[in-house]
Amino acid sequence: MDRLIRGFAFDGQVRLIGIESTDLVQVALNTHKLSPVGTAALGKLLTAGAIMGSMLKDDEDRLTLIVKGDGPLGNIVVCANSKAIVKGYVQNPMVDVPLSEDGTLDIGTAVGRNGVLTVTKDIGLKEPQTGSVELKTGTISDELTDYFLISEQIPSVIQLSVSVKKDATVSKACGYLLQLMPGTDPAIIDMIVGRISNIRPICELLKEGFSIEDILKSISGDEKITVLEEIQPEFLCDCSRERMERAISSIPAEERKRMIEEDGFIEITCSFCGKSEKFTF
Ligand SMILES: [Zn+2]
Repeated sequence: MDRLIRGFAFDGQVRLIGIESTDLVQVALNTHKLSPVGTAALGKLLTAGAIMGSMLKDDEDRLTLIVKGDGPLGNIVVCANSKAIVKGYVQNPMVDVPLSEDGTLDIGTAVGRNGVLTVTKDIGLKEPQTGSVELKTGTISDELTDYFLISEQIPSVIQLSVSVKKDATVSKACGYLLQLMPGTDPAIIDMIVGRISNIRPICELLKEGFSIEDILKSISGDEKITVLEEIQPEFLCDCSRERMERAISSIPAEERKRMIEEDGFIEITCSFCGKSEKFTF
């Protein structure tokens, strides 16, 4: 079962979030018939969405992550709320690219190394807050680490990982976020930097039976981390016939009339979950 743990280490000096997102990424794969590299790219952005969504304060707050790269996958879009409920899609879900030289999925090539990652938070203010960073490696983890430092001025490490089995099912999906609060003891920072560069891939640790809590302890170096909250992240779409009807009302009247005359109906398909509804009015 997927789990997301929020907590801190060293009396609040270090914020920690860890997640296993295997089930929700499998739902995304099934929903969108994703290629292996599409699964890895969307799976990472969904995992990031769950992590960053869980940091929102109110039930109505929303987070949107958009990666616009120049790779063949096209745009990747993820929406999340504060309960770590996520939905997302890839523009070209079935695109595949050759494996990297080391035999791993080449997410950077599939996403592209030129483009922008945009984070939009709708937290009930007049205007949503938006921050963006240039793509660098296309791996999404590096770009989000940049985003936290540049747009939010919080030194952070975010690591996202998705491994796909040969039979095209999700083997493991997981991630963590570690953030240094202002005034963190420099000795703690040095220790964490050393630990992060030496830790084994977290998907492997989960496969070996380590828990998310074990991994957060290992990354932070604090054996007595405090867990504030545990939530179950999920892939769920909140679209409805009513919402689709509202989308149709934004199509110019002339165009609507022409569509009804030609086809007898207007069909709307949700990009996030693939559900279709026909309207004949
Ligand atoms: Zn939907």
